Amino acid sequence: MKKIPVIFVLILLAASGVFLYAQRCKVWACNDEIKYSAPTPSPSKIKSPLQNPPALPESEAGYSIPDLNKTIKFPVFNYHHLGPMPENADINRRVFTVTPELFEEHLKYFRDNGYQVVLVDELIKYFKIGKSLPEKAVAITFDDGYLEHYQNAFPLLKKYNVKATFFIPTGWVGTSTRGDMMSWAQIKEMSDAGMIIGSHAMTHPNLMNLSDEDLKKELEESKKIIEGRIGKVCDLLAYPGGNHDARVIEAVANAGYKGALSVYKIIQQAPRYIYSIRRFHADDNMSSIVDKLVDY
Ligand SMILES: [Zn+2]
Repeated sequence: MKKIPVIFVLILLAASGVFLYAQRCKVWACNDEIKYSAPTPSPSKIKSPLQNPPALPESEAGYSIPDLNKTIKFPVFNYHHLGPMPENADINRRVFTVTPELFEEHLKYFRDNGYQVVLVDELIKYFKIGKSLPEKAVAITFDDGYLEHYQNAFPLLKKYNVKATFFIPTGWVGTSTRGDMMSWAQIKEMSDAGMIIGSHAMTHPNLMNLSDEDLKKELEESKKIIEGRIGKVCDLLAYPGGNHDARVIEAVANAGYKGALSVYKIIQQAPRYIYSIRRFHADDNMSSIVDKLVDY
């Protein structure tokens, strides 16, 4: 007679155990959903971010606007540190440093092998109005606004009569955020000498991680600050870290930039990627230049 209530209690305990376990599983499943429902896009997976390119202006007399998908070769080389290699440089610093001696070798190589160093603006003109690029055209850009650009690159660019584009994070100007950075007076001097000054945002953030409001601010404020300092229009942008997606591109176009540059390891360019212009990273090695120019 006493066995019946014991069995009954055991059944009740087992049932409540199953119920509690099911509830816990539901919570875990829910957490997993939250955790995995919004993966962060990887910049390396972005293939064709410009889905809706802005309308191109009418062609000027004598030019014909290229088809949006028409691919041309136009190597754009990108530099960061331009100074002596620090003795204890780690691998990261090493690959982002080109010594002035080697930079001069790069410039000599372009000159002696018939390459014409032009501004990225020439590519934009080709995209927008069909103005053709010179034979064997290449472009040079610098990111981050290091003082070394003014001290070491600028004199060599003048010596070889070459123009380049410098992308400046406006919040770093005159600071020592990453070593010594250029001042506005130095940036203006380079601009007055024909160098192009572009935006690299204000604080060098990953633009993909910003709210719409902060994104707009980084793009619009940096543009306005540069224009106020150099007295010229600033309408090119280089994405900090190369990071961008369709939302960032739309914000860049809306902020009034005519084109933007990223980092892709190819020399092919096309009008539909005017907000994703490809650049090569130049390092302290001739092959980082020479290898990219084979068959060009
Ligand atoms: Zn940068």
